[in-house]
Amino acid sequence: MGIWQKELISVFLLFLLVAIVGGLTGLFLPLFLLLVLVVLVQQIFQITRFERWIRQGGRSQYPKTSGVWEEIYYHVYRIKKNEKRRKKKLSKVIDQFRQSTEALPDAAVVLGANDEIEWANKTALKVLGLKPSDKGQRIPNLIRFPEFIRYLKSGNYEEAVIVPSPVNSQMTLAVRVVSYGAGLRLLLAQDVTQLKKMERMRKDFVANVSHELRTPLTVLKGYIETLQDMDDGESQLLTNSVQQMQTQTDRMQHLVDDLLLLTRLETQQGKTQCIDVPALLTQICKESSDMVGNADRIELILATQVHVAGEELALRSAFSNLLSNALKYSPDDTKVKVRWYQSGESVVMSVEDKGEGIAAADIPRVSERFYRIEVRRSKKVPGIGLGLAIVKHALMRQDARLVITSELGKGSCFSCHFPIAQICTPKTKIIPTDPVQSLFLNDH
Ligand code: ADP
Repeated sequence: MGIWQKELISVFLLFLLVAIVGGLTGLFLPLFLLLVLVVLVQQIFQITRFERWIRQGGRSQYPKTSGVWEEIYYHVYRIKKNEKRRKKKLSKVIDQFRQSTEALPDAAVVLGANDEIEWANKTALKVLGLKPSDKGQRIPNLIRFPEFIRYLKSGNYEEAVIVPSPVNSQMTLAVRVVSYGAGLRLLLAQDVTQLKKMERMRKDFVANVSHELRTPLTVLKGYIETLQDMDDGESQLLTNSVQQMQTQTDRMQHLVDDLLLLTRLETQQGKTQCIDVPALLTQICKESSDMVGNADRIELILATQVHVAGEELALRSAFSNLLSNALKYSPDDTKVKVRWYQSGESVVMSVEDKGEGIAAADIPRVSERFYRIEVRRSKKVPGIGLGLAIVKHALMRQDARLVITSELGKGSCFSCHFPIAQICTPKTKIIPTDPVQSLFLNDH
């Protein structure tokens, strides 16, 4: 029998007793009223006692009682006890999380919806120069590097932003934001000083070695030319050897030039100007047509005449590399289409060929340095695998991106997408330059 049924039965029996006694004595009404009064006072007493117990937190042992009230006390007491246990567990987890983030070698800052600091670990205080009193302050007011503010505003946190430490300019930090929960973000700053130093050393080393190799290469080439002039064709061995020497020095020259160009694109900021892309493409296509000795091989379609802001050397290198690849990796009797057109939010330069194509698995890797696809071809295609790395870096500097679509055996389309915000009003005229020559204009 349930507790409520028992309670009702006892009340019913009481009333029955009052009815019998009242009927026998003739005092039914006063006895009935007295019973109602007693029951009411008893319930008011129980409610008051319960309210006082709850007000005190309901955690201490509940008062001795019986019936429904004992049941109510018991359930509330159990709920409170479970809640206490859960709270204890949760605060232990929070403590552990705090301890682990405190021990992190990276700076960690929890940001609210308005970029305000909600919590920061000890490393954040040290490397970002934050103070405990900065809690609640907006972080852009404390870390004022424009690139950091731009990154925070952009909402695109796929990559980290590199900034110096606000307290130590010798320290380089890679700052990354991770979004979680409703509007909350975790900012992580890692000390990458050593990594950046090593990267700089690698770049300097490649640049220095490549630069130093230019003089001996020029001397070697000079002697090879002299030997070629002196060769009277009597010795086949000599003719073949000189030919081999020339091919290999040309290859080495190409490698050195590409490495120097890549280093420059990675490290130096060139002059941004308004580039007449249609004129630049016309010129590159003409030079390439002359080189392949076939005026019909390249078709240039200029659907727009817009100019874009950028560095001439970077754009020239990117476009020439794409065109030279298309010519290299497609049969001589097929056409290569070069287009300049506007599409949605971009202005696009595309080079399309009907050549051997690239397998889907290779597409993401072709722009890596020295990555070449091993294909058995009828004729050997010269190359060192730096062309598309140059294209990628050149475009990155212009806020443009490279899109590759290709199908094996059918052909490829390489397109450079420039944001329309980069469209500019023409001012400059394109002067033919040799990209590598122009690298050393400032040398002397
Ligand atoms: P390289 O041409 O000197 O080998 P790149 O970096 O320019 O170096 O190109 C990397 C690789 O991508 C090439 O070896 C080639 O296999 C592939 N590739 C580039 N452009 C094309 C193209 N238009 N069609 C087919 N394959 C291409």
